[in-house]
Amino acid sequence: METTQRQTDASTAVKLDGARVADEIKREVAEEVARLKEEHGVTPRLVTVLVGDDPASAVYVRNKVRTCGELGLASEPYQLPADTPAERLLEMVAEFNAREDVDGLLVQLPLPKQMDESAVIEAIDPDKDVDGFHPVSIGRMMLRRPALLPCTPAGIIELLVRGGVKIAGARATVIGRSNIVGRPAAELLLQRDATVTICHSRTGCLTDVTREADILVVAIGRPGFVRGEHVKPGATVIDVGMNRVTDSEEVKQLFDGEDAARRLKTLGERGYTLVGDVHPAEVSKVAGRLTPVPGGVGLLTVAMLMKNTLTAARRRRGLR
Ligand code: NAP
Repeated sequence: METTQRQTDASTAVKLDGARVADEIKREVAEEVARLKEEHGVTPRLVTVLVGDDPASAVYVRNKVRTCGELGLASEPYQLPADTPAERLLEMVAEFNAREDVDGLLVQLPLPKQMDESAVIEAIDPDKDVDGFHPVSIGRMMLRRPALLPCTPAGIIELLVRGGVKIAGARATVIGRSNIVGRPAAELLLQRDATVTICHSRTGCLTDVTREADILVVAIGRPGFVRGEHVKPGATVIDVGMNRVTDSEEVKQLFDGEDAARRLKTLGERGYTLVGDVHPAEVSKVAGRLTPVPGGVGLLTVAMLMKNTLTAARRRRGLR
């Protein structure tokens, strides 16, 4: 399916449209959820646990719960105060692990300081680990066995494949080596036969490395970090970054023309605008394809979470 759209301004990059690909995946999931219900009387159920009141985390969880409703999955959201003792969260995780009717369990990260994130992730039943962060899930992925894949990296692959980007034989470079994005993204690209390079904060001559890439995945956490000079002309650039920019001068440096005006309006209304790790004005003039922020990878993350919850519901019951 054609999932790209030519932009109308001076930029040359085609927009890799996350909304269109995410909608396609969500439609497929909704159909399968309806079939599961009709044929087996099963409705996949996702439990979400949010600890504390981080506004960005609250938005992410709300989106996940809302999407469950849209696709016919059951959801059960829990919100706990920031000072909840770690033991209480671990008790709840054990209860959800034991419940037959719970298929997916997601504890929204980051957690407050008194909680050990690794311990919480490892307490989740790997068969319900719809975030794909548990060491067993990562191990299954690395061994290329059936696994609940981490949602953002899996979403990047869907975006590339359904966007018609050739991965096999391509040179793919990932900037960032986090456990949740960079490393698994690199592994999934390798599994699709790309020749993969991983860069990080200690990489020397970053520009020399990134300019070799046909596919450049950027997951750093610094707004507009990747500039035109980092990008090989015509490359596909996947911007994973999600940064809240609150300074109007910074916005003016990142965006041109109408885009700048639109962003400044958003900034005025909300107090921030969401910006990726890629400099949009510069890179859109060099890249062949570019994911927008918002409207790119972030939407795929939620779609893949829904898909994982459906997969978990089927596998736990031995259904196809
Ligand atoms: P993270 O854990 O902070 O990792 C950042 C990575 O970037 C690290 O590996 C770090 O290198 C590398 N890095 C930092 N500065 C660098 C530099 N100057 N040059 C090269 N590499 C550099 O971040 P993350 O969790 O992977 O998230 C990355 C971004 O993606 C964030 O903006 C986050 O909000 C976003 N995100 C989006 C989604 C989504 O759904 N769209 C999901 C998850 C995350 P070292 O290892 O050497 O420190």
